[in-house]
Amino acid sequence: MTRPTEQIISTEELEAYRPRQAAGFCPSRIVLAKGSNTTATRRRLAEKICEAYPEAEVIEDFGTPHNRVNLEQSDPLLLSDVGKRTLVLAEHKSAVRHSTEEGNSCPNFWHFSPYGFCPYGCTYCYLAGTQGVRFSPTVKIFLNLPEILAEVDRVARQLGEPTAFYLGKLQDGLALDPLTGYSRQLVPFFAGHPYAQLVVLTKCAQVDNLLGLQPTDAAGAEVRIESIQVASKARGLSCFCVISCDVLFAPAQ
Ligand code: SF4
Repeated sequence: MTRPTEQIISTEELEAYRPRQAAGFCPSRIVLAKGSNTTATRRRLAEKICEAYPEAEVIEDFGTPHNRVNLEQSDPLLLSDVGKRTLVLAEHKSAVRHSTEEGNSCPNFWHFSPYGFCPYGCTYCYLAGTQGVRFSPTVKIFLNLPEILAEVDRVARQLGEPTAFYLGKLQDGLALDPLTGYSRQLVPFFAGHPYAQLVVLTKCAQVDNLLGLQPTDAAGAEVRIESIQVASKARGLSCFCVISCDVLFAPAQ
């Protein structure tokens, strides 16, 4: 059974966060898509994210789902280019999933998506070839974080055993965090959860939000540094970080 979302995270804290521009991302337009205006919290978040990019054109398209925003481009390369410069604010009603790949050496796993795609431009990125991104290559922030975490909670309690939930399978896990401050909600949520554990995959070095967290959360769980692996400084990538339920990370040295 799903816990009421007001028990999951503090919407007051979510609304109080002051967005900062995300490094490497400068959208020329922001689309307010379906679900971005359906609660006061979502409206407030959308408003403040727009304020972080005063030069961007803001388009109200409240009837269009996040993956149906029309970029008016048929050429795949132009579509991708325009998509990387378009930020879509919306809701995602099936953001918590279990992967179902076959033939991989890696096991399948649970993952969740408060973001869609990624503002960075790595030439080797596999996301551009995935079905969802190929047809909808916009950068997305999903404003229904309380509902997404309520679903994580429901799934984890149903499984009834320690279970990792990955953030970073279909997006970079932290690239847009300066805009949302979501990590400040995610770490305490997972730290205090009896079963759900958090794993964040990122190449983002903007970890200020995490470094600002207190060493203990409301439930008294310890937040500490566990694992940092440098992925590739030569490629300009900063760090590949693993955060698990009660774990916080720091930038690569
Ligand atoms: S950071 Fe990751 S998700 Fe983003 S473009 Fe690079 S490889 Fe793709």
